[in-house]
Amino acid sequence: MDIQEKIKKLRKEIELYSYYYYVEDNPKVEDYEYDALFRELQKLENEHPELITPDSPTQRVGGISEKFDTVAHKNRLYSLDNANNDEELTKWYERVLKDTTGLEGQMNLFMPKIPLACEYKIDGLAVSLTYVNGIFTQGLTRGDGVMGEDITNNLKTIKAIPLKLFEPINVEVRGEVYMPVQSFEKLNTKQLEMGQKTFANPRNAAAGSIRQLDPKITASRDLSIFVYGGIFEKKDAPKSHSETMEKLSKLGFRTNKVSVVQGIDEAIEFCKKTDLVRHNLNYATDGVVIKVDEIAKQEELGFTSRVPKWAIAFKFPPEEVWTDLESIEFSVGRTGIVTPVANLKPVLLAGSTVSRASLYNFDEIKRLNVQVGDRALVKKAAEIIPKVIRVEKTVNSKPFELPKTCPCCGSTLKEVEGEVALYCPNKNGCSAQIKGRIEYFVSKNAMDIDGLGESIISQLVERKMVYTYADLYKLTYEQLLELDLIAEKSAQNLLDAINNSKNTKLPKFLNALGIRLVGKESADILAQNFKDIEALKAANVEDLSAIDGIGEKMAKSIYDYFHNEQNLKTLDEVLKLGLVLENTYRKEENLKFKGLSFVLTGTLEEFSRDKAQEILKSLGAKTPNSVSKNTNYVIAGANAGSKLTKAQNLGIKILSEQEFKELISNKEDL
Ligand code: NAD
Repeated sequence: MDIQEKIKKLRKEIELYSYYYYVEDNPKVEDYEYDALFRELQKLENEHPELITPDSPTQRVGGISEKFDTVAHKNRLYSLDNANNDEELTKWYERVLKDTTGLEGQMNLFMPKIPLACEYKIDGLAVSLTYVNGIFTQGLTRGDGVMGEDITNNLKTIKAIPLKLFEPINVEVRGEVYMPVQSFEKLNTKQLEMGQKTFANPRNAAAGSIRQLDPKITASRDLSIFVYGGIFEKKDAPKSHSETMEKLSKLGFRTNKVSVVQGIDEAIEFCKKTDLVRHNLNYATDGVVIKVDEIAKQEELGFTSRVPKWAIAFKFPPEEVWTDLESIEFSVGRTGIVTPVANLKPVLLAGSTVSRASLYNFDEIKRLNVQVGDRALVKKAAEIIPKVIRVEKTVNSKPFELPKTCPCCGSTLKEVEGEVALYCPNKNGCSAQIKGRIEYFVSKNAMDIDGLGESIISQLVERKMVYTYADLYKLTYEQLLELDLIAEKSAQNLLDAINNSKNTKLPKFLNALGIRLVGKESADILAQNFKDIEALKAANVEDLSAIDGIGEKMAKSIYDYFHNEQNLKTLDEVLKLGLVLENTYRKEENLKFKGLSFVLTGTLEEFSRDKAQEILKSLGAKTPNSVSKNTNYVIAGANAGSKLTKAQNLGIKILSEQEFKELISNKEDL
């Protein structure tokens, strides 16, 4: 593979993982694996700067979802560069010295020691809070650093965020919303009991809780915040980061301790000490942030397109521990593929006891040469399911037999063509597969049916009430009441949730079908390219593989799916039961304001602000709350304020209420 290809592949992979991490709050790989890919890309780009493009993940931060209104940040939010060891920290400090004092070369005893502020790096979700005259007016996520999601109402439910400051001051504050470790554990236990999805780590739990459309859900989760920075008006601006933190604390914000040390050696010492005590804290930290304390020096150093040059995050190494691999268990998922899991002698790892670890697949077992009785090195980063990364043989090591029959239904297993994998061919009779498919069908990115958790699905399948997803729509209130742990109210709620899901969107349904190799993104691509399910059913392999983003294997899998008698029967059944599939992509084609952004300011006579926004959105427009260079139109009512002035300065077209009315009543086109 040539360098260009390699870079392209890395970017694609990183973007996909970032999407799951930032937008879905559901990481697909562990942080250290993601970081390794990111660093590899950085290295290749450093070696070939001519191949850097502005949209490369190394030039941008985060990600943004469409769930909330997006609003332009007044001041950009950045990520942090990170260092994994003492050498990398020292190199960063040498660059800081070079840029601020002109002194070049390797660190030695005579190099100046400048004040550095050291803080715990809180593993949560970055937010920006705006206060006008001391009143909390707007709260945004970091988003992609330029635009953030407006989550003001959700942030207002966090008690540690002051709604009014002790001084009537204008300030934009940055902080990290997090979930205390104990609350995270409690939440996961509760989610499990209710048969709902658990969160991989406290960071995902915090991000998932704060990015809820219903602020009541956010309010029910125990969230807190540590504020770690603020942008003041010139007249109020402190001279150092540590002073900023003191000032923020006096204004009423919750801040964490800042230790100011002299030079990088003392900062390294601080990192080492923190690593020893961090598991005793009641919040997750994934490192230490080191910042040049003096603001004038920070300004001198400035930013790259992604990170400040005056700060660096020291990341704790992912933790690893050796233990005994006692046995290997096999489980069957929705596709029928058998996956191996290692049972371990329980061991303490990163603050929690671990007794199972993933072995992913038979290829991995072969690659690692795993045997029962081995000593296994288990690694865990950011509290995600640990995995076995290396084994050593002991006198007890002995080969294990690959299973011949399905651990669930006993069918004889078959080999997957061209892969070192086994699968259970009993697609319609193996309850593990049926459960897996139904769980996938109802999950958030699919039909999103609330309340249908693992335990209810398990009962429905075990009691033979449900074989296919169409059977869900035939369930009655009385049948649901028969299930264990279902009271009258929840039976009704569940029935309502199932019925409500009948009006869904085509891409969600296509994802829900669980077609082999087709995930959320490919389902989106299919919906963009096919008007409806009938058109998709009629497509042949050539039509499908001609679409950008659908490879040949996937095309074949889609074709096979829609030419399988049983699949067609279920599809037909569910459509007859009243499922309505709206293709939002195709609908938007006809929307008159698609891709345009309107900002409302002042008071309109005939419409409330909410109503005007609703009309605009129904015509495909975006309606952020503030004006930026991306705004296309500003609709100005009576007493319009600063947004109007800003729009005029930026040369954005201003519409009166009358012009707006004419536009929406189709009298005039844009
Ligand atoms: P980051 O989390 O490494 O660092 C930047 C963030 O640190 C800031 O935005 C801020 O919110 C936070 N922070 C916490 N305490 C702070 C303090 N005291 N001072 C200043 N900032 C503080 O960077 P990122 O860009 O948010 O994300 C990159 C990280 O996310 C990487 O560690 C990566 O492993 C992980 N990630 C993982 C996946 C995955 O699939 N596992 C995908 C994408 C990103």
